[in-house]
Amino acid sequence: MTESRAHLIDGKNIAETILKETAAHTQQYIRQEGGPPCLAVILVGDDPASNIYVRNKSIAAKRMGFTSIQENLPLDVPESTIIALIERMNKDQSVNGILLQLPLPKHINASKIIELINPEKDVDGFHPVNIGRLVTGNRDKALIPCTPAGCVVLAKSVHGNDLSGLHTVIVGRSNIVGKPCAQLFLAENCMITITHSYTKNLADITRNADILLSATGQPNMIKGSGIKAGATVIDVGINRLPGNEKNEGKSRITGDIDFESAWKIAGAITPVPGGVGPMTIAMLMQNTLIAAQRQSKHAGHKSA
Ligand code: NDP
Repeated sequence: MTESRAHLIDGKNIAETILKETAAHTQQYIRQEGGPPCLAVILVGDDPASNIYVRNKSIAAKRMGFTSIQENLPLDVPESTIIALIERMNKDQSVNGILLQLPLPKHINASKIIELINPEKDVDGFHPVNIGRLVTGNRDKALIPCTPAGCVVLAKSVHGNDLSGLHTVIVGRSNIVGKPCAQLFLAENCMITITHSYTKNLADITRNADILLSATGQPNMIKGSGIKAGATVIDVGINRLPGNEKNEGKSRITGDIDFESAWKIAGAITPVPGGVGPMTIAMLMQNTLIAAQRQSKHAGHKSA
């Protein structure tokens, strides 16, 4: 007898469709405005993972036909320098989107800096104004956080556009993933349970999920035994494991979900890599275009 296997949610392919649409809409934007949207990226320090993320975002921006500016600041940069840079970018009408790559070094107050970004240019969607708009259902004016927005698209690729009544269990409550995911799935009429490091008997809770979403940064923490048969599993985690003898010392990326045991139980599951990661970049490109369209002199509120 062959074991059943979950449908693999192809985030790469779904992201590619969004990128192609965004590139086509960008051409329209350029024809109308006479120039491309501009994404400015600020990178502090030389964290290898952040370097890769920023490089991939710049490559995608170029592919969309955007102008992209990158400001690399040293690890020990004073907070005042970042503040001055953001104030300059806020004023610069040729910059439509500002992305501050996180995490920031410990001596920088990340919340304070995020609050300085003009909310209309906050393409990460982390500014309290954008979060407030999301929470109060004013989504037409908000810029929605990219990874959570991508998770909803992935869930819809399995369940169709109507997620009403599905029980979504979210593991992790960070400001950038867990909390905005809860708001977005709530806006889709899901029933939401949020769990975190103080949650007792986690597996008993995750086993109730129709949609299980994990963003903890704890490699392979959720096993198949914590998943309801047929559930949709969205693994946001990106964890780099050191190499060992088995893989000739090569480090590898894994998610929060123990894929081997999970895909025998789940109905659909995202791989890591190739699931949520590409969606984050695609949604960032979409947000940059939306921001540029809203800032346009000709704006009559078009959407991407
Ligand atoms: P944070 O460290 O900010 O938050 C982690 C959350 O997980 C916290 O709420 C924490 O709970 C919870 N948690 C930690 N351990 C456990 C546990 N044993 N049981 C239950 N909950 C637990 O992480 P982020 O949200 O920034 O990122 C999470 C993961 O997602 C990381 O691997 C990151 O690399 C990845 N990521 C991937 C992205 C993508 O594009 N694919 C984008 C962003 C992040 P508590 O609050 O109680 O401490």
